[in-house]
Amino acid sequence: MNLIELARKYPDDEAARRWFVEQRWPDGVRCIDCGSGERVVESKHQSMDWWCGSCRSYFSWRKGSVMESSKLGAQTWLLAVYLLSQSPKGVSSVSLGRHLGITQKSAWHLGHRIRQAWADGDDPLMVGPVEIDETYVGGKNKNRHRGKKGSGRGPSGKAPVMGAADRHTGSVSLEAVGSVDGATAAGFVSSRVRRGADVFTDEAPVYGPLGRLGFRHGRVAHGRGEYRRGLASTNRIEGVWALLKRSYIGTYHWMSDKHLHRYCSEVEARVNEATSLRWVACGMVGKRLRYTDLTAP
Ligand SMILES: [Zn+2]
Repeated sequence: MNLIELARKYPDDEAARRWFVEQRWPDGVRCIDCGSGERVVESKHQSMDWWCGSCRSYFSWRKGSVMESSKLGAQTWLLAVYLLSQSPKGVSSVSLGRHLGITQKSAWHLGHRIRQAWADGDDPLMVGPVEIDETYVGGKNKNRHRGKKGSGRGPSGKAPVMGAADRHTGSVSLEAVGSVDGATAAGFVSSRVRRGADVFTDEAPVYGPLGRLGFRHGRVAHGRGEYRRGLASTNRIEGVWALLKRSYIGTYHWMSDKHLHRYCSEVEARVNEATSLRWVACGMVGKRLRYTDLTAP
């Protein structure tokens, strides 16, 4: 997204606030105090924009994040995240302050809090919940979703691809694999997802060992038409398959095995670029960095 697009999409504080709320609670707002999402409604309170009927308390979308107690508007925060994510080390507080129309001192504090959000983000492993799935690319296959079930999961002439989609950050990772078996699936997940994370798959037997490897494994049974059971769904990774197949059908008549990994990287990059801002926003939660902490000797 370029700056013009960003400015059009988030023209004011309210639009930017809604964006932050969506990043923090992708599956619906939950109360910060009691964790319940059942009776949470928007409130008219000046700074506390949510009301939880379960524990009868107000909370703000900023609470418990690096934005807590900041006087800067949501749009200023979003623009700062954007500017810094374009060049994480290259924006001085003077320049950031000028871009945003705030003092250098204020920009300095702002910049540090956003970098703080990055601090733990160097870990390349997904923290989840992560959706895992496999697909087959190439040839013709109408009604793939059911066909996958009925044809023994290894249609001849098609190349298998495994994918992981982090539901929290939106990032995806794809790999063209030689075959889909238990060892391949275990290796794929272990190299991308942090142990202990929630992982969701369908009921294919190849995912059987994930629980024993230390992941919290949830399954969704596609065969019975059960596409979403509680939190266990694989809707996101299926959206990625749709992208991969659209680029295959739309752009390339034949995606050879040899080049399949490149198409996977291309789709990966397209999805991940769009989610890099979200990734930073997710890192903002659960952290504080007060001005007094920064300036302490
Ligand atoms: Zn509550």
